[in-house]
Parts: sequence; C-alpha cells; structure tokens
Amino acid sequence: MSIPPATDGLPLQSAQCPLCGGANACGMVRSGGAEEPCWCEQETFSPALLARLPEARRGRACVCLRCVKSQ
Ligand SMILES: [Zn+2]
Repeated sequence: MSIPPATDGLPLQSAQCPLCGGANACGMVRSGGAEEPCWCEQETFSPALLARLPEARRGRACVCLRCVKSQ
C-alpha cells in the first residue's frame, strides 16, 4: 500500500501536532517510521476533531494529546 504525497509540503509523519504545533510524541516518528505503536491508537479522535485538521493531514500526522483531550 502506498500513501500519496502530501500536498501541503509538510512531512507525512510529523513530530508536530497539526493543530497547535506542539510535540505530539508520535510513536512512528520516534521510531523513524518503524512499527512502533503510537499512543494515538489507544485514543479516540472525534469527527469534530478530525474536521479541524487540514485534509492532507488526516490519518497522517498525530494530533498531540493535549488537543485530543480538549476535543
Ligand atoms: Zn496539539
């Protein structure tokens, strides 16, 4: 499975939250894209939260825990 390139110039896997720019502690970024599970897999992302993300970022860059908790 291949992922189409992002259209906004940002790296596909970013260590920065696309909403607030803070560190998101993404497991995939920490491990360099390896199979390390990310904390985000244990969290629920509401449709309202996802709607705030730029379309190109959805399902790619992790939102930080702070933004998830304030959704
Ligand atoms: Zn954030």
